[in-house]
Amino acid sequence: MRIILIYLFRLIHYNSSMVKNSEKILADHNVSITNPRVFVLEVLLENKGPITLDELQSTLKNKVAKSTLYRVLNDLKKINILDEFTSPENQTVVELSLSENDHHHHVFCTNCGEVEDITLSEVFEKQLSDEISNIHKTSKYLIKEHTLELIGLCSSCK
Ligand SMILES: [Zn+2]
Ligand SMILES: [Zn+2]
Repeated sequence: MRIILIYLFRLIHYNSSMVKNSEKILADHNVSITNPRVFVLEVLLENKGPITLDELQSTLKNKVAKSTLYRVLNDLKKINILDEFTSPENQTVVELSLSENDHHHHVFCTNCGEVEDITLSEVFEKQLSDEISNIHKTSKYLIKEHTLELIGLCSSCK
């Protein structure tokens, strides 16, 4: 009886959908499934949006060493599923980007550094891209993309 219970527990443990998802993502991109990669992906999946490197590091501090974390983040960048950007306060922020058409913007809290995704209306995005293609025509630059950041105070800081 005891053996059966332990076996069931293991079964439940290994079927945790988050782990499965992380493993599937890695397998889909033909990279090997390692514990640090799975741990980092789990946190990013659970977070469902942008997270500062500091926060990611402190969430993972007992599981993944700092140097390993940097290496894993580079691996994820190489397979094009991680975006990295800098907040107005110069904090490094990372987020998963699992689908190609995932264009969105960010709002930053200047007090605590929290960052969240925001989506602008399609009408506005269209106007903005028209505007940018006009600029593109008259400028010497090859314009590849745009960013638009909102800066303010989050609900716990305002
Ligand atoms: Zn805040
Ligand atoms: Zn985002």
